[in-house]
Amino acid sequence: MPHIVTLECESCAERNYTTTKTKKMIQERTKLELKKYCKRERKHTIHKEIK
Ligand SMILES: [Zn+2]
Repeated sequence: MPHIVTLECESCAERNYTTTKTKKMIQERTKLELKKYCKRERKHTIHKEIK
């Protein structure tokens, strides 16, 4: 069963993406941090996983 997490823009807090985590990532408590395009700001920003 996939574990879905939401990615939130670090600078404006817009929730732009969802992604899935593997069991291994959950076990290792990996925090996702990806550079993604923010529609609100119209530029690439760091998006962090939220609960
Ligand atoms: Zn943003």
